Amino acid sequence: MKIPSRLSIANMPTPIQKLSHISQLLHKNVYIKRDDYTGNEWSGNKIRKLEYALNEAIQQGATTVITCGGLQSNHARATTAVANHLGLKTHLVLRGAKQEHPQGNLLLNEIMGAQISYLEPEIFNRDYLNYMEQLKTDYAQKGIQAYIIPIGASNGIGNFGYYNCFQEIKAQEEDLSIQFDTIVTTVGSGGTYGGLFLGNLLENYPKKIVGFNISSTPDYFKSEITEIVKASLAIMNCEATFNTEDIQIIGGYEGIGYALTQPFELEFIKKIASLEGLILDPVYTGKAFRGLYNEIEKGTFDNSQNILFIHTGGLSGLHSFSAQFNF
Ligand SMILES: *Cc1c(COP(=O)(O)O)cnc(C)c1O
Repeated sequence: MKIPSRLSIANMPTPIQKLSHISQLLHKNVYIKRDDYTGNEWSGNKIRKLEYALNEAIQQGATTVITCGGLQSNHARATTAVANHLGLKTHLVLRGAKQEHPQGNLLLNEIMGAQISYLEPEIFNRDYLNYMEQLKTDYAQKGIQAYIIPIGASNGIGNFGYYNCFQEIKAQEEDLSIQFDTIVTTVGSGGTYGGLFLGNLLENYPKKIVGFNISSTPDYFKSEITEIVKASLAIMNCEATFNTEDIQIIGGYEGIGYALTQPFELEFIKKIASLEGLILDPVYTGKAFRGLYNEIEKGTFDNSQNILFIHTGGLSGLHSFSAQFNF
């Protein structure tokens, strides 16, 4: 079994903290892994995947990285930051229009000087894959080798980021003398869940890995994650098999869609921030943690003792929601 090599950029291992007030309220040990501390400019979960993807890009001789996402994509911002750090150029394909006064992640991308193609939402949804391929061809014609990273870096290679995180968690369990029976994460493009699932699969499922989707449906992500994990197994030359039904994703917390928010979801973010001094974001962790909180109350996690929630980041995106909060 061969794990691909990676760059070493992220600030890791990230700390694990107990959420003591929430644990008391819910009569359950709830811990949080601070993957929002993986860096500043490249904070969040994407850097773990980019360590593998960009290593491959460099090995292949690429000098420009092409990737895509929403206007406030954390993944796009992390990619620009790491690419600049490595001396690579970035070309982003973003869903939406250029802003006169960019905020949050978009502001950071503009400051860092990413080349950005803004696509109308309908055109983006229909065509972003072709658009990135065309950009790569255009660069090639100018003698520049480009490397495409798919949305969220959620593919076979990027998936090793959270395979590696699973190993990190096991080492921390030794240090902390705690066994996490359940690991919970947001599912946005699937590679965080997929990597954790892969780690768990190769040890015959010692833990429960539970995802909360923040857009689309659990079934959609179960099949996406199946493909991502299979691609990783192929890279490893590993024969392990699994069933799509082993992938546990709880729906019902995606709300009105990707990056769209409702007042009660923002109120939940305020509640957690008041209780613990912990900031969740409206697009990802706020929805998923609300899911975990409600499902613990409903008894879905009655068989879990020590639950570890992965804080995948998102603080930069929060700032663009300022006007929607009620204070
Ligand atoms: C991208 C992202 C996620 C989702 O992770 P996936 O691996 O894409 O499923 C969760 N939280 C934050 C803050 C993100 O930026």
